[in-house]
Amino acid sequence: MAKNITNKKLAVLTSGGDASGMNACVRTVVRYGLNHGFEVYGVKHGYSGLVNDEVIRMDYGSVSNSVHAGGTLLKTSRCPEFKEKEVMLKAVNNLLNRDIGNLIVIGGDGSFRGVEDMHENTELNVIGVPGTIDNDMGYTDYTIGFDTACNTVIDAILKLRDTITSHDRIMILEVMGRDSGNIALNSAVAGGAEYVIVPEAPADVDEIAKSVKRGFDKGKTSTIILLAEGKNYLKDELIQKVAAATNRRVNHMALGYMQRGGIPTMSDRVLAARMAQRAVDLIECGQSGRVVGVRGGDIYDTTVLEALRIPKEFDEGLYKLAMVISK
Ligand code: ADP
Repeated sequence: MAKNITNKKLAVLTSGGDASGMNACVRTVVRYGLNHGFEVYGVKHGYSGLVNDEVIRMDYGSVSNSVHAGGTLLKTSRCPEFKEKEVMLKAVNNLLNRDIGNLIVIGGDGSFRGVEDMHENTELNVIGVPGTIDNDMGYTDYTIGFDTACNTVIDAILKLRDTITSHDRIMILEVMGRDSGNIALNSAVAGGAEYVIVPEAPADVDEIAKSVKRGFDKGKTSTIILLAEGKNYLKDELIQKVAAATNRRVNHMALGYMQRGGIPTMSDRVLAARMAQRAVDLIECGQSGRVVGVRGGDIYDTTVLEALRIPKEFDEGLYKLAMVISK
């Protein structure tokens, strides 16, 4: 993986969807990098900023008071044109022309495809760190931002429960995760939602409707159904069938971008710091085309190609447990 250039100039950028903990990650890249003798630079607005040469020098003070901040202070973007080879080459040349030979990219699987392209086609040494609330990458148990997003959902469940209990109602709470049910499943278990519907498992809407009715017949005074984004096409059918079966009002709410922002949890901040440290260590060893992950609590790294190849395993055990403990 090592390439010919090894230099002591290192840039960092955040790309794709913002995730809480990205700032904690940048902070460690900057301070640990400086501590290891690197000149550190930030690229603003993700790959768009790389194309437009938005490069700033980062010192210790540039990341002061940022460990707790949500979003990304370096800003981020979607940059579809980065998939075009000429655009990517121009972007990388902006760094190479400044004699910056190393780049750390914090982002999701789309951003990692950019990492692979840059690694494969240029002299730049590129390392990826997983920052996405979706936790949808198979090579790593957790991604930066996932824990904070789940805690936001749990907080929403707590607050919505007050209102729907007061009115004896049912709430369908739609949560993010793209094709992954990870946010929904983990939040359902941790937040005590009665039902969870995820893309990875079949859902029988008629059976759910009957079950919700049985719950109210037995004395329940509220029901929360967590609906993962990847199954939101079931929303209308759910509302209609659950309302018909129970003769109660069914509310629907999509939590949306509420799940992206907010103060990162301790877990996300520590994960971000540990992953950033490994990323800088890899750069220091002249590595490229690798991404940092966590397995069984241990930080590790693998090739970006391998990371993109491994499908996310669905936690069947946790799903079965959710089915048992929820109602
Ligand atoms: P995330 O990184 O959170 O998954 P996206 O899927 O939007 O977010 O990807 C972020 C950026 O990564 C895109 O806007 C684009 O610049 C770059 N990217 C995505 N897919 C590719 C690809 N196949 N090749 C090169 N770059 C890509």
